[in-house]
Amino acid sequence: MLHYTEPIYRPPSEADDLFIQVTQGCSHNSCSFCGQYKDTPFRLSPMEQIEADIIEAAKLYPDKKRVYLLSGDPFVLSFDKLKQIGLWLNQYIPSLEAVAMFASINSIKQKTDAELKTLFGLKMNLLYLGIETGDPETLAFANKGHNVEEAYTQLKRLESVGIGYLSAYISGLTGDGLEKGLENARNSAAFFNKVPPVMLGVTSLSIWDNTEIGKLRREGKFIPAPELQMLEETRELLSGLTSPMLFSSIHVSNLVPVMGRIPEDRNEMLQTLDQQIAVLKNDGDIPRYSGRDGRM
Ligand code: SF4
Repeated sequence: MLHYTEPIYRPPSEADDLFIQVTQGCSHNSCSFCGQYKDTPFRLSPMEQIEADIIEAAKLYPDKKRVYLLSGDPFVLSFDKLKQIGLWLNQYIPSLEAVAMFASINSIKQKTDAELKTLFGLKMNLLYLGIETGDPETLAFANKGHNVEEAYTQLKRLESVGIGYLSAYISGLTGDGLEKGLENARNSAAFFNKVPPVMLGVTSLSIWDNTEIGKLRREGKFIPAPELQMLEETRELLSGLTSPMLFSSIHVSNLVPVMGRIPEDRNEMLQTLDQQIAVLKNDGDIPRYSGRDGRM
């Protein structure tokens, strides 16, 4: 039987992958907005268990093309362990085309250029990174464990070896106050233009009690941004993006879902957001996106 430990989070775009659990929890576990793994101590899966799971999964799903390594930050594994896992995946799953996983800026930093090239050669060619913002002050508040310069340097290294990355941006991280939200969006657009992700996915800040932001809200030190502000922030981000990438706000946390390619679909997406912003400014109602259309 394959080994899985709850909770399991995976990006919507990897829903059909073969999942192999190589870590549990998150090695950082300190982002101010995230409570996903607060009750799950970080731990590496034993290597013999990983190999046994790959062998069994390959028998069950012999034609799988994509593998997704669980959980919060599998790229934190040492190069030697990741290389061995990559060798097993390529050996036992001949149809393999891509191995994706969550990563952090610090876990990239720990690998040399030659090591990154080797992992890319083993089809570890797509990393999910929660960059969340390119604004220095907001990034410090998010407590991601890296600063903007470090993120830029490590993303450039990924780019140079051909490893693609997808990133999230969180609207509303600066709290109530439109100007700060717009400034965060502008600085983030400038950042993502310099190191464009394959896809930039926008979510709106959801506040959980078991997080630092949840605590600040209880103490009255963090006032959540209103829905209209988060929409205007998303619009500001979108209007500032010029480098080619896929942009998506299709997520249940967002009031208005849009998706398209930058730059060709940007104006159409902006028009959609502008129409809905105008409705909200005129005290109109917008039906909340439910995610039930299967797009998430
Ligand atoms: S957002 Fe990602 S890196 Fe931050 S604590 Fe949550 S799982 Fe870990």
